[in-house]
Amino acid sequence: MLYYSVLYLANKLLFTLFPTCNWRIRMAISKSDVNRFAPGTAEYIVVHGLWRASRGRKLSATLSWLKNPTEALEWAKRFAYFPDSGSYLEGKVPEYYVCGECGASGVKLWREYQTFLDHQSLRCLICACREQDKVRTPTEDGCSLYTDKVHHWYRTATTRPGWWNGYDPKDGPPPDAIETRTERDKTDQIGWRVPAVPTEEGNTYWGYTSVPTSGINWWCKLPTLSVNKTS
Ligand SMILES: [Zn+2]
Repeated sequence: MLYYSVLYLANKLLFTLFPTCNWRIRMAISKSDVNRFAPGTAEYIVVHGLWRASRGRKLSATLSWLKNPTEALEWAKRFAYFPDSGSYLEGKVPEYYVCGECGASGVKLWREYQTFLDHQSLRCLICACREQDKVRTPTEDGCSLYTDKVHHWYRTATTRPGWWNGYDPKDGPPPDAIETRTERDKTDQIGWRVPAVPTEEGNTYWGYTSVPTSGINWWCKLPTLSVNKTS
C-alpha cells in the first residue's frame, strides 16, 4: 500500500525534474520494485527509470517500437498510472457498476463505444450479447471472449518459417498444404460495446485504447458470468 503511494508521489514530484537534472535521486527503489510491473508497460518504464536514476545510471529501458530510452520514458510518463491506494479502485467494485438490463453486479460489464464516456449504459455479457445479437463465450484466462468465428491456416513446404496462410474451410486448404491448424477468434468487444473500466474518480470511464494496465487487471479479475445466472 505505502509502496505505491511513495511511487505515485515520486512520479509526481521527481519527473518534473527528471531526467534532465543531475541530482542523484536517493530513493529506496530496488530491482524487485521494477519487477512488479510487466516489461513493455508504461509503469515498468517509469519505475525502471527511477531505479536507474537512484543509482546514478543512465536510462536503459526501451519498448519494442521505441528503441530510444529517453523517448520511451517520455511516452511512459504520459501513460503510466499508479493507483492512489495501491490497488485499482482498492480492488472493489463501485456500487453503480451494475448491468442496466438485468441488474447483475460483481461481474464484467460493457459500455457503448460511441457514446460520451460519462453517459454510459452498462450491460453484462448475456444482456450485451442479446442486445447486439452476437455470440461470445469467456476465454480460459477470463480476460477475453471467443466469437463464433474460427480462423483456418495452412503452410506449404515453401512457406517462410513462422508464417501461415489463411483458407476458407468451404474450399479446404490447397493440395500442397502440409500443415493446417485452426484458431478461435478472440475479442473483448461485443458488437458496439467495449469493456467498461471506471476511472478511480468514479465519474467517467477510460477510453478504449487508454485504459491503464492496473484498470485492465481490475476488469480481468471480475468474473465474466455471474455465478447465480447460468442460463
Ligand atoms: Zn445483464
